[in-house]
Amino acid sequence: MAVSIAFDVCSLLIAVSVLSVNIHRKSFDLLQNKVFTGLSLTVIISSAARIVSDFALASPEAFSVGYMRIWSYIALLAECTMFFMFAAYCLSVYDISIFGPQLKNKAVMFAPAAAEMMFLVVAYANDLIFRFNSSSDRVSEAVGTAVMIAFSLYFVIYGIVNCLLFKKTTENKVICSLFTFALLAEIGYVSEFLSPDILSPNLFTAFGLLFIQLLTNRAEDYIDAVTEIPNDRAFRRFFEVNLKTAQYSSVYIIYVENSRLLNLTIGHDKVNEILKKIGLYFEEITDKNVFYIDNGTYAIFPRLTPSSKDIFFGSVNRRFGMPWDVDGADFLISIKILEVKIPRDADSCDKIYAYADYLKSEKITSGQLQYASHAELKDNSRTLIVENCIKKAIENDGFCMYYQPIYSVKDKKIVSAEALIRLIDPEYGLISPAEFIPIAERNGSIIQIGKCVLKMVFDFMKRHNIETMGLDYIEVNLSVIQCMQKNLADIIMSLAVDNNVNSKNINLEITETAAAERPVMLMHNMQMLVDHEYTFSLDDFGTGYSNISSMVDMPLMIIKFDKSIIDRATETEEGKILIESLAAMVKKMGKKIVAEGIETKEQLDEMEKLGIDYIQGYYFSRPLPENEFIEYVEKFNDLPAAQVVS
Ligand code: C2E
Ligand code: CA
Ligand code: CA
Repeated sequence: MAVSIAFDVCSLLIAVSVLSVNIHRKSFDLLQNKVFTGLSLTVIISSAARIVSDFALASPEAFSVGYMRIWSYIALLAECTMFFMFAAYCLSVYDISIFGPQLKNKAVMFAPAAAEMMFLVVAYANDLIFRFNSSSDRVSEAVGTAVMIAFSLYFVIYGIVNCLLFKKTTENKVICSLFTFALLAEIGYVSEFLSPDILSPNLFTAFGLLFIQLLTNRAEDYIDAVTEIPNDRAFRRFFEVNLKTAQYSSVYIIYVENSRLLNLTIGHDKVNEILKKIGLYFEEITDKNVFYIDNGTYAIFPRLTPSSKDIFFGSVNRRFGMPWDVDGADFLISIKILEVKIPRDADSCDKIYAYADYLKSEKITSGQLQYASHAELKDNSRTLIVENCIKKAIENDGFCMYYQPIYSVKDKKIVSAEALIRLIDPEYGLISPAEFIPIAERNGSIIQIGKCVLKMVFDFMKRHNIETMGLDYIEVNLSVIQCMQKNLADIIMSLAVDNNVNSKNINLEITETAAAERPVMLMHNMQMLVDHEYTFSLDDFGTGYSNISSMVDMPLMIIKFDKSIIDRATETEEGKILIESLAAMVKKMGKKIVAEGIETKEQLDEMEKLGIDYIQGYYFSRPLPENEFIEYVEKFNDLPAAQVVS
């Protein structure tokens, strides 16, 4: 008996710790968690009741048989409930509530449970399950035992069969833990009747609980490690359930602008701290209905009426009008908000993610509430195809470089070239960099692509001496993300050394977007490279981000006038005035100018009149594969310029 009590104490301790871990850890409010709490409670009650009854059985002189019987039956009642809860838990793993509408025939659960309870009452009155003999030992009765085991088997089999029905969508570890629990619980239960003095059924079930806790009921799987709020997995479940229950008619997607840029500039730790604070703020104002679904993106389900909506978002905007404090430093954060009506705008989680992507795009202005019904979703499947092509190309060296000649007005020769990447997929053919570079910037693969570009260009320069071809340098495009990489300068310099490339033969193009933000890391990289005699061009000048002061502060040798300002110059008088003044200003600053996108002789003449130094465009040549480029340059530079140009 003492052994049996010790087992019960053990099982009580295990079940209590499982329950307290489950209650105290930060978790996401899932049906599964609630049912698991119920399941743990049944094991606790049963263990406690058995401790009392075994204690009484151990000192028969002090306790009456009636007292022993009551506690034995309380323990048994808790065990019966445990099997019932197990079946309910198996269903809750798939968000099926035994009280919900989905379980068409609730009778399948509740009728056997009611029958079992009735049997227990009758058995209690007639000693049908246990009998207490003259020396106050508990002896099992065969018929009652068989009936009780049959009921327990019914619930176990019902639960497991349901799991197997959903097997396709279930991870193996979940099925494995539920099977283990069922097996252990049955072994314990049967052994209780066979050898009531020694074993405790609860110890088996307590271990079963532990198994489920470790393998299936993992709250951490549903919590974002950084923000400590429910993650995309939790969101998917919540959204699916909400589609069925229609509790919330809208979800709001919140995107924290520039979170990636912030990461690169103020560091991950500080950004994470801000994201956590933002998450907490939304938890407070939405009654915890917040999910962190993607980088810098939250989904919230506030309870709003048409009249409270304005007040709610008014106060959100006021909060984001104020700074967020991290370690004594203040950061102003702007957000974009999109209202998505369910199910009108989104009847699946994937649709929500498509809206989240849309929200990140620049079309949306921050602050104001935007509506999904007005959104023009990009063709998501095309993005997936391109992402896949990029992945394949990175793995199989599927990129190649084209070179577009750049003509010098003064020398009447090709004096440099811009390296432009090409992705030719075996299945989808040529994919334009204008399409795949932005996608690569969004998914982060641009860093690897950037390295491939540098390697390919340096390799080309190792094999061909560009100076003997009459070229001064090759221009290489750097993306904004690359510019903010901490070790960009080191990467470039070590690749140059490996390939024996002279830094004077490399000109790096940064875009206006990068220059306008002027992040610390970019300035640091630029300075280091300039110190090693690399030169820089400002690309796409005039495309909207014009920040004249960046031209003053940055060590730029060349300003590349974008095709759009060239085109405007030939179209309107104002356009002409603009380009004239810009050209005069840049020249006064002592910088050189490349005119991009020159397609006609008229445009070329116009540029020459303006005193533009270099010309790039289809008029001379499209970007060419390596061999054709070499052929072109050799031919062009060997002949009297006038013959080739005209
Ligand atoms: P970009 O840097 O402004 O490159 C110039 C683009 O204008 C090239 O497009 C070029 O083919 C095109 N172009 C040149 N002359 C003319 C012309 O006379 N008329 C017209 N209509 N277009 C002309 P491409 O090669 O399709 O590249 C598009 C953009 O993709 C590039 O714009 C650049 O932003 C990006 N990109 C290309 N290669 C790389 C790369 O290696 N790294 C990075 N980060 N971005 C790249
Ligand atoms: Ca460029
Ligand atoms: Ca450009």
